[in-house]
Amino acid sequence: PAGPDGGAVIAPRRPTRKIKVGSVYVGGDAPISVQSMTTTPTTDVNATLQQIAELTAAGCDIVRVACPSQDDADALPTIAAKSQIPVIADIHFQPKYVFAAIDAGCAGVRVNPGNIRKFDDQVKQIARAAKDAGVSLRIGVNAGSLDKRLYAKYGGPTPEALVESAVWEASLFEEHDFHDFKISVKHNDPVVMVKAYEMLSERGDWPLHLGVTEAGPAFQGTIKSSVAFGALLSRGIGDTIRVSLSAPPVEEVKVGNQILQSLGLKPRKLEIVSCPSCGRAQVDVYTLAEQVTKGLEGMTVPLRVAVMGCVVNGPGEAREADLGVASGNGKGQIFVKGEVIKTVPESDIVETLIEEAMRIADEMGEP
Ligand code: SF4
Repeated sequence: PAGPDGGAVIAPRRPTRKIKVGSVYVGGDAPISVQSMTTTPTTDVNATLQQIAELTAAGCDIVRVACPSQDDADALPTIAAKSQIPVIADIHFQPKYVFAAIDAGCAGVRVNPGNIRKFDDQVKQIARAAKDAGVSLRIGVNAGSLDKRLYAKYGGPTPEALVESAVWEASLFEEHDFHDFKISVKHNDPVVMVKAYEMLSERGDWPLHLGVTEAGPAFQGTIKSSVAFGALLSRGIGDTIRVSLSAPPVEEVKVGNQILQSLGLKPRKLEIVSCPSCGRAQVDVYTLAEQVTKGLEGMTVPLRVAVMGCVVNGPGEAREADLGVASGNGKGQIFVKGEVIKTVPESDIVETLIEEAMRIADEMGEP
């Protein structure tokens, strides 16, 4: 199958039903969306809106804000009204905040089934209120807050336990003819998480929100999320993703988008093809690649720029790219669309590549 930019994709999407999170569709044939969560106190409306603006600029499609208190709930109407992207309120214990978030104009609400027994009798009212307001929900099962009954039955948050919790919770809403929800079954172990989502995808056509919870600091979290999402997305499982990092949320969005672009599930933007360098390198490839990446940051056209350390694979890769350099003997051969357009001294490589990239982007209609 072809991806959004016409290239190959890893696998056909598994059919799920489509739901709406404000202006963003999730599931079915909708593009896989990228989510993140603000880290500012929700009560600090200005700081939260500022962070949402940064996330939006980084390519975030849907943002979640925590709502642990009445003061947070009171901040939701302004945040929901002024955010450029749909806002989901994250509610754990208190059903009254679910109603507050719906009234506040949030596009969605995340509810946690580990706590739902506290408000069993209110599922019907929540389903009714959400339906009337056109708000969708996420049933967010999390290993850390698994229902005690299931924890005891399975001896821990196993894939089976996470799935049983999710399916049970889904049935509570479905009994009231409410179907506008997606499901997540998060665990901090990618292996458990992958198995849980695989099992869940066999049980129904719910759209699935992928996440490795508490994945860790940026390096570890990026790898955990990438391998887990890659394993699932390569089988067509997953409709929206959230990378969790102990790092600024903009980093989560960048990683999420890069995962989707790497799998051909999102149109590719700027791509730097740089070699790892080796004993043959005749130039400092790391610095060169870093300077070019920095110089081209924010470029939105799908430009492929090759930065190669020597003439072994250099000319070949540079030719395949829109723009490239193959370095050697203190010089760089600059390629544009497969043709050598000039040879420049090593000290001018970065500047020349950036100039040429800007010129090509201009021709391609960079906004
Ligand atoms: Fe080594 Fe040259 Fe390949 Fe770079 S392009 S990894 S320097 S052989």
